[in-house]
Amino acid sequence: MAVRSWWGWGWADQALDAHELEQLADRVRAFLPLDGEITRVPAVPELRAPRLKPPSSVECRADDEARASHSYGKAYRDVIRCLNQDLASPPDLVVYPADADEVQRAMAWAAERGAAVIPYGGGSSVVGGVEYRGADRPVVVLDLSKLDEVLEIDEVSLAVRTQAGIFGPALEHRLRPKGLTLRHFPQSFEFSTVGGWLATRAGGHFATGYTHIDDLVESMSVLTPTGMAHTARVPASGAGPEPNRLWLGSEGALGVITEAWLRVQQRPVHKEGVAIAFETFGQAVTATRLIAQSGLNPANCRLLDPLEAMLGAGALDGGSRLILGFESADHPVSAQLKRAIEICRGQGGVASDAEKWRGTFLRGPYLRDGLARLGVVVETFETACTWSNFESLHTAVLEAVAPGFVTCRFTHVYPDGPAPYFTVYATAPRGGEVAVWDELKAHASQALLANGGTITHHHAVGRDHVPWYHPPGPFTEALRAVKRTLDPQGILNPGVLGLG
Ligand SMILES: Cc1cc2nc3c(=O)[nH]c(=O)nc-3n(C[C@H](O)[C@H](O)[C@H](O)COP(=O)(O)OP(=O)(O)OC[C@H]3O[C@@H](n4cnc5c(N)ncnc54)[C@H](O)[C@@H]3O)c2cc1C
Repeated sequence: MAVRSWWGWGWADQALDAHELEQLADRVRAFLPLDGEITRVPAVPELRAPRLKPPSSVECRADDEARASHSYGKAYRDVIRCLNQDLASPPDLVVYPADADEVQRAMAWAAERGAAVIPYGGGSSVVGGVEYRGADRPVVVLDLSKLDEVLEIDEVSLAVRTQAGIFGPALEHRLRPKGLTLRHFPQSFEFSTVGGWLATRAGGHFATGYTHIDDLVESMSVLTPTGMAHTARVPASGAGPEPNRLWLGSEGALGVITEAWLRVQQRPVHKEGVAIAFETFGQAVTATRLIAQSGLNPANCRLLDPLEAMLGAGALDGGSRLILGFESADHPVSAQLKRAIEICRGQGGVASDAEKWRGTFLRGPYLRDGLARLGVVVETFETACTWSNFESLHTAVLEAVAPGFVTCRFTHVYPDGPAPYFTVYATAPRGGEVAVWDELKAHASQALLANGGTITHHHAVGRDHVPWYHPPGPFTEALRAVKRTLDPQGILNPGVLGLG
């Protein structure tokens, strides 16, 4: 049986082996100096003794392996801390509730003991979303992976009612025999859950149209410390502020999402795509903007800058690549593709080799963990800005993270602006990786905000983005008041969204 990695991404046996690490090191040496060491994957370290005695009423684990693997999310910062055996504040207990009643009981049990409760889906957070940063109170992780049932499929209205702890592949597996799909595929799809997507406002990898999970949710059931909340299952409503918006992006700080109705679609059968080569990044950006504003709505419209095109799609000509794809369950898509190619030609684009990026995209997280073992610091961050701000934002980010080695791609595009995704590679002395990462993060975040970007397009706020999140004024005051009302003892995920 496949086993999840306790320290890094995905399946333990999919991590890069010694030969793959050597090959990766040879490729990296062309860009960055390496010290030649390969960090060994350590065994689970011995953790400090748990401060709580497990309750008998709910399934729990208090062993070191369960606590270590639930200590952090899956950002580079988390992986490197595991590799360096830095697990100073592990949770005291991992609880596995099997239904909403057990979630309620576990929350009440933890509240009586003054413990913090961290709702945990797949644990793929990249912003410190599942890690309590303090030693002042015991910590209970509420692992929701047993809430994994599909409860109902409405084939007439095209919607599915599902428990929140279900992982992406299991949900698609249940929809496939009906010819349906949620069509929400974040890169972390295999190891993240519906509840996590809703709680972080995740973005799938389709470039236009429905991208955020926000667009796919009809209704939600959320268990707060003061009671259960249900939103109405309707296709749309103009009745006052939108209730789902209270829970979307609430990051486990206001309640535990136990189930949801999500909009599904017929599985696409018509699919066509092409990669377009551009000599300059500027030409490629203009072509991408014109397509985003054309109403063609490509399923994929992923722009790769020259370095990203080389590393991610094997393009060696120094140019940029636009990966274009169209899909439909209903009608052929050749006409849309043809028109998009015409738009690209108008900006000097030329149809090129078949895309290779998908394989790299899926293998990417394992490669990142391999880079961490070679001593490379890797930071990925993403934003969204208007088209008119993009050029200055791009320049500012490159300057802010220098001398780091930076690539940029667009993961999503909108008529009024792109969602640029940056990857920075740098070196750090062994043991000093977290400090270098923190510095890169701070410089990059300041550059984003100073140039009209958001601190995140789809990675959530968690704890890492708090300094760049809170808009001063009434919104923050109202959010804090909501937290006090729903969670008066402050037990739920203290610290995320800057809510103590
Ligand atoms: C390699 C990699 C690739 C990624 N790619 C993408 C991507 O393409 N798009 C994207 O949007 N994100 C991406 N992410 C980030 C991450 O996968 C998303 O934030 C995802 O939505 C988290 O889901 P999860 O189930 O793993 O939640 P977790 O990481 O377990 O939790 C995330 C947050 O949600 C809260 N939470 C989880 N479940 C619940 C619940 N049922 N009720 C209330 N709160 C809950 C937690 O308390 C925490 O604050 C990526 C991460 C990695 C490591």
